[in-house]
Amino acid sequence: MNPTTPEIVSPPAPGMSFALTEEQQAVREMVRDFAESEIRPIAAAIDESHEFPTATVKKMAELGLMGMFVPDEHGGAGMDYLSYAIAIEELSRVCASHGVIASAHNSLVCYPILAYGNAAQQQKYLTPLARGEHIGAYCLTEPNAGSNAANQQTTAVADGDAFVLNGTKLFVTNAGPAHTLVVYAATDRALGPRGISAFIVEADAPGITKSKKEKKLGIHASDTREIVFSNARVPKENLLGELNKGYTVALATLGGGRIGIAAQALGIAQASLEAAVKYAGERKQFDRVIGEFDAIRHMLADMVIEVDTARLLVYQASWLRDQGRAHIKEASLAKWHASEAATRCAHLAIQVHGGYGYLSEFLVERYWRDARITELYEGTTEVQKMVVAAQLLKEHPVASPA
Ligand SMILES: Cc1cc2nc3c(=O)[nH]c(=O)nc-3n(C[C@H](O)[C@H](O)[C@H](O)COP(=O)(O)OP(=O)(O)OC[C@H]3O[C@@H](n4cnc5c(N)ncnc54)[C@H](O)[C@@H]3O)c2cc1C
Repeated sequence: MNPTTPEIVSPPAPGMSFALTEEQQAVREMVRDFAESEIRPIAAAIDESHEFPTATVKKMAELGLMGMFVPDEHGGAGMDYLSYAIAIEELSRVCASHGVIASAHNSLVCYPILAYGNAAQQQKYLTPLARGEHIGAYCLTEPNAGSNAANQQTTAVADGDAFVLNGTKLFVTNAGPAHTLVVYAATDRALGPRGISAFIVEADAPGITKSKKEKKLGIHASDTREIVFSNARVPKENLLGELNKGYTVALATLGGGRIGIAAQALGIAQASLEAAVKYAGERKQFDRVIGEFDAIRHMLADMVIEVDTARLLVYQASWLRDQGRAHIKEASLAKWHASEAATRCAHLAIQVHGGYGYLSEFLVERYWRDARITELYEGTTEVQKMVVAAQLLKEHPVASPA
């Protein structure tokens, strides 16, 4: 090989196996059964009513789905990350709102407390979260800190035995039912990203106000709100990780979170494909089922390549995380591609359904609305591309000519 040509490794990651273990298969079957029997009957109704599905979330907790990769000793199910991704995929195949409720709770709240919390914090907060007795929410985004999440304006000022929080967090998933918040705030604004800290905050503490539920294009049953902190006192022992190291916690958390959203997108893409295949075999025009027409077949084929490539990327990122190997680039690739795949598949599924696809009665209309968010939250597609390029060029620096 030309010594100046970088060797860039493409998937599959070295050592990656394509076979799911018996446990991973069992998780898929268990979650699929649950989603089909308990969630499918209510999915259209909660999309219509925008109601948070308290009863099915309770059942998810009974199945261990609110503490999926949290070890048994902290009340979790002790699954690997690939099983977690499969579970989110299966929930989202039936209802993307359930997918994001579980993904935000597990990836964005259980994970940082598991990885950065001390024993007392884990006992007090992680165990009830993992058992699903408490719901968690993640508070990073602000009016002026979206893609540039490091630009935190919320402040946390030490005062005696507490930090006093002031600021506004936007778009908080699970905000309404949440008891436990992981909140990021500037503890030293002069230091920029190096002056951010993470806190575990009890949502019913004085000085915390949740706004009314946001009205959204999709994922209607996911509860999204603004949360305002106004002189909210957070005990010093609730500092999560080290002082001024919160941005590291946020980025490590998003690494796993993006896999969860990628899995959510994969589930929507899969559901779109299944709905399109079913309809193509039922609908007749010109005395033939439409699935006999090449135009329809090509759309189905286009959807297959989207779904299959998305699944490979999602499982690869999950597998690398399970191996304790670098996966920042792979998580962003999975999130970027699976989210666009979901949007494209839902779009094509509507096309296969013709005018009926535009009606709420047919599921693909919901899939299309639900898919769109996956390209936006936990980093837009543009942000994922920035991450991928930054990681690539970290591995293969671009040398300026002398
Ligand atoms: C339904 C929903 C749920 C959410 N849940 C949560 C949650 O639970 N917790 C939480 O903290 N946040 C949450 N978010 C926030 C979400 O992560 C942000 O909306 C997202 O990161 C984008 O930030 P922004 O909306 O401020 O867009 P902006 O950052 O303002 O981006 C606007 C546009 O500019 C582009 N852009 C920005 N910077 C660059 C750049 N440097 N180069 C190229 N393009 C750029 C973006 O890609 C986008 O196209 C949620 C959002 C929604 C809609």
